[in-house]
Amino acid sequence: MPVVVLATESEWLPRVISIRLALPVVMLAVLWAWETLRPFFELQQTRNRHAVRNLTLAVCNAFVMGVLFGAATVATATWTSDNGFGLLQLIDRFPVARFTAGLMLLDGWMYVWHRLNHRVTLLWRFHRAHHSDPNMDVTTASRFHLGEHLISATLRLVLIPLLGLSLWQIVIYEMAVVVMTHFHHANITVGRADRWLRCLIVTPDMHKVHHSRWQPETDSNYAVVLSVWDRLARTLQLNPDPHSIAIGLDEFTDDCWQSIRGMLRTPFAGGQRPGLTQETEGQSEQESRSTTHT
Ligand SMILES: [Zn+2]
Ligand SMILES: [Zn+2]
Repeated sequence: MPVVVLATESEWLPRVISIRLALPVVMLAVLWAWETLRPFFELQQTRNRHAVRNLTLAVCNAFVMGVLFGAATVATATWTSDNGFGLLQLIDRFPVARFTAGLMLLDGWMYVWHRLNHRVTLLWRFHRAHHSDPNMDVTTASRFHLGEHLISATLRLVLIPLLGLSLWQIVIYEMAVVVMTHFHHANITVGRADRWLRCLIVTPDMHKVHHSRWQPETDSNYAVVLSVWDRLARTLQLNPDPHSIAIGLDEFTDDCWQSIRGMLRTPFAGGQRPGLTQETEGQSEQESRSTTHT
């Protein structure tokens, strides 16, 4: 998720925003160390080059998004709060409930948005720059095409007044996203604790399934922070042997797609959304695999 909040609305907000801006670096450092000490998949010799590429793309995206959407997001949220606009004003007597409902609605929207990215061919073309990473690790959490960020941030500018979201809600939710996406993309496992954690949040074992090359697995586990959305929509899928999951996309395995230029070119490469061509084939394969729904 891009850095979009650059201004303040209270004394505490600047401090929280400072934490928000530092959080990706902290999460990256902690989970990089974890991956180094106890990697789930064997560490690749090209690990450092892979990280530099993904993080260079992320820094460039953060800069562009900050310039284009930082002030606009702050202005939209401030106007929304000042004018008491949006759906959440219906529960204005209960500030805690309204605040929590705002976070839930943002997370629910992220589920819908992610699912649309897998359904709509144009969106999938951009989103596959995230899925084309064959060596998923903590840096993959920041690997997105600028086009996906631009569409997502534009839609969120509409969502803010529609729902009546405050700057606080946006900043707190962004922090939750940063923590959770770094955690569930990391090349780690939490072992048996995964089973308990995924009752509430998206876990590394869950998100590995989402990055599988096998389309029926790719089209599952869309949730970003809370796993409840996948349960409600019956899109939660588990693989009892995550070591068997082949990560990435078959058509973008070649190293030319892993460079920064390659990632930027990914939306413009040929090929349909895999699900449109392999769904039938995948269904028959599904019967022979032990992937489970929960
Ligand atoms: Zn996805
Ligand atoms: Zn992912």
